[in-house]
Amino acid sequence: MWIHRIRLKALAWVVAIVIAAIGAISLFAVPALPALGVAVAFVAVALNQIGHRLAQPTCYGCGSDLSGREPGQYGVECAECGTINQVPPRPPAGPPQGASPTPRLAADVHSPDRPSHRA
Ligand SMILES: [Zn+2]
Repeated sequence: MWIHRIRLKALAWVVAIVIAAIGAISLFAVPALPALGVAVAFVAVALNQIGHRLAQPTCYGCGSDLSGREPGQYGVECAECGTINQVPPRPPAGPPQGASPTPRLAADVHSPDRPSHRA
């Protein structure tokens, strides 16, 4: 499946960059912190490049573009492979507004001070 290949590709890139960073640190006596920073930057760029196609409405079965397809009752049907995709394409007029407020937990309750156990 197409999405599994993307995951394998991302994992391969991350492993390769980590191995390259470790190799550069150990073989060429590169300082560890700058090498780690460069490695993290390379990982971010690689994952961004790989996941770029997922930012568009994309068929999870074959990876073809789903923008412009009308969603049916059960989702968006791919014209290429017939896969029903659960994620509907984005509305054309920008991202949806009105972010749902995150529910707050009752973590702000002040607990009474514990009695001290002095001898
Ligand atoms: Zn498809």
